[in-house]
Amino acid sequence: MIVNQLTYQIDTAGFNQGVDYDMLSYIMSNSTQHMNGVTIIDGRKAREVRLPKLIARVQKLSFRSHLAIIQVGNRPDSTSYIRAKKLFAAKIGVGIVHKQFDETISQAELLKEIAEMNQSNEVQGIIVQLPLPVQIDKKAIIDAIIPSKDVDALTSTSVANWSQGKGIMPATARGVRELLNFYDIKLNGKKVTVVGRSDLVGKPIAVMCENAGAQVTVCHSKTVDLVAGTKDADVLIVAVGKPGLITEKHVNMGQVVIDVGISRLGEEQLAGDVDFANVSKVVRAISPVPGGVGAMTVLALFENLIDLCEGKM
Ligand code: NAP
Repeated sequence: MIVNQLTYQIDTAGFNQGVDYDMLSYIMSNSTQHMNGVTIIDGRKAREVRLPKLIARVQKLSFRSHLAIIQVGNRPDSTSYIRAKKLFAAKIGVGIVHKQFDETISQAELLKEIAEMNQSNEVQGIIVQLPLPVQIDKKAIIDAIIPSKDVDALTSTSVANWSQGKGIMPATARGVRELLNFYDIKLNGKKVTVVGRSDLVGKPIAVMCENAGAQVTVCHSKTVDLVAGTKDADVLIVAVGKPGLITEKHVNMGQVVIDVGISRLGEEQLAGDVDFANVSKVVRAISPVPGGVGAMTVLALFENLIDLCEGKM
């Protein structure tokens, strides 16, 4: 198969409807796809296999679970992420309470809304869709969510917990972990390089890898020699948001490359941070964009929600 001629379209939460158990057993017996010797780390397959277990957990609850999503303004990217969450929630039987506010909302008004959601018996998880307008102090808003409903694991209490390997972790980090587990890629004792160190994505991924026993190197915008930081790693995880940042010169033959980056190249096309066409000719395994980590992130978010519902935190 010619890797560098593959093109991808946006995965607008393109989840299969229903669960096809024949398909699942097919997937299980074909869980690695080889192209020119490289393993394609397929997030959609991993998601489909994990899905029935999550649905079973949702159905086992004695109440209908609900996720509250608080949106300020109407950024198209936020609206499209929220649409993906709504589609997934509908598929697994979780309710969504979507509250959208004008972007002129004051911090005090937003805090009042969060206080209401904290007290609501209907919702078990609360998300504040980021980014927020400049007049709002993001940290104050996030920290207003009670930890027992902090499904994004971003409050100071949650961060302190997952930093010590306790409780739920942010969905992207969980998605990366489950994807690596699905492909039986162990982190214990491995050299892992994470490129990107944001509070939401890079940092939790680095902590997750360290908690799994990896020796972790973190690279960022001030890293002088990125090649020196990435080339030697057993597992390279990239979460930056710059298409084509990672090329053949940054990787080695035995490496597993996980591309977390998502950038929109146009109306209908997404790109990761890794030059997939060329890097996939060199490395042992690589996740594509779309169809890699992104496919696992929404699932991981709802796994977090159900953990909260079951009181596992
Ligand atoms: P962010 O807050 O903008 O952080 C970007 C990080 O990349 C920063 O730590 C920055 O370093 C670093 N960086 C910037 N330029 C760099 C360079 N030339 N070399 C090395 N590091 C560089 O973005 P984010 O929220 O973490 O998101 C990162 C990417 O992941 C985005 O593409 C986003 O869309 C994607 N994402 C994907 C998923 C998914 O499910 N797959 C979920 C969430 C986000 P400094 O800290 O020094 O500024």
